[in-house]
Amino acid sequence: MQTPHASRKLYAVMGNPVRHSKSPAIHRSFAEQCGIDLEYRAIEVELGGFAAAVHAFRASGGRGLNVTVPFKLEAYALADRRSARAQQARAVNTLKFETDGAIYGDNTDGIGLVHDLVVNCATPLAGRHILVIGAGGAARGIVGPILEEGVARLLIANRTVSKARELVAMFAGHAELDACGFDALADGRFDIVINSTAASLQGEALQLPPDMFVPGALAYDLMYGEALTPFLQWASKHGAAKVSDGLGMLVEQAAESFFIWHGRRPQTEAVLAALRAVDSKE
Ligand code: NDP
Repeated sequence: MQTPHASRKLYAVMGNPVRHSKSPAIHRSFAEQCGIDLEYRAIEVELGGFAAAVHAFRASGGRGLNVTVPFKLEAYALADRRSARAQQARAVNTLKFETDGAIYGDNTDGIGLVHDLVVNCATPLAGRHILVIGAGGAARGIVGPILEEGVARLLIANRTVSKARELVAMFAGHAELDACGFDALADGRFDIVINSTAASLQGEALQLPPDMFVPGALAYDLMYGEALTPFLQWASKHGAAKVSDGLGMLVEQAAESFFIWHGRRPQTEAVLAALRAVDSKE
């Protein structure tokens, strides 16, 4: 592993695949904005090699890591101390190497999504009826922060219903939270529908009822890319008034990780606009 410039603070994102990650560009922009001299790398880690890669990175001078698919559960297990929201999600996307030798783990995905919805998409969650499709790693990170906004109802629908039920069971005591399969969605109407499945990643459309959006509803896909995802294309044809991909969530979760590492909260608006401008040119 390369040694960083002596005065530079070293950070990275680890995942597989991670080559096309936008995190290095985002963190460099934040650092420039805040006058912090840092180096931020993207490190592709072999399956089964996560813990060894983290220890090697730390030994080479690394101070913190973002963790993406498929290592968020391993990052949770590796952390010595965990934030309340990481414990709630049982998954970690941010590691900080503390001066006392401990590894601190946090999960900024959910707060990143909520910030993107409420601020960037101007869609408050309080009192709303919300559907989250999917019950994988990403859904685990977003359920707690969504519930904290005081929603009227949060329904988790998943292809494999048992996984949606397991997720709901992790948040016992929330009467507004429920689980179901896609076939039980026929009578549901929602203010906000969030696709957290990997279906868009595979270019697949979901089999959903065509009248699930109330007037003015927002459809949100955690996935992002140059073109509108299949879910967002479908949603805009079936009554969603607004659609948004997950690029804003990516930038907002990165801002929260930046705050954990550097104690500074960067401005996100210009960074998000610059990423969108690059995407529209590609
Ligand atoms: P997981 O592999 O943990 O979960 C995948 C989920 O998608 C499961 O609920 C699975 O259902 C469902 N699924 C997969 N394929 C299909 C399909 N063809 N039809 C219906 N359901 C399907 O993935 P993650 O939760 O970690 O990630 C999900 C997405 O979120 C990815 O696209 C990822 O890039 C994105 N993401 C974006 C972030 C951002 O910052 N914008 C942050 C984190 C994730 P089942 O249980 O039945 O298999």
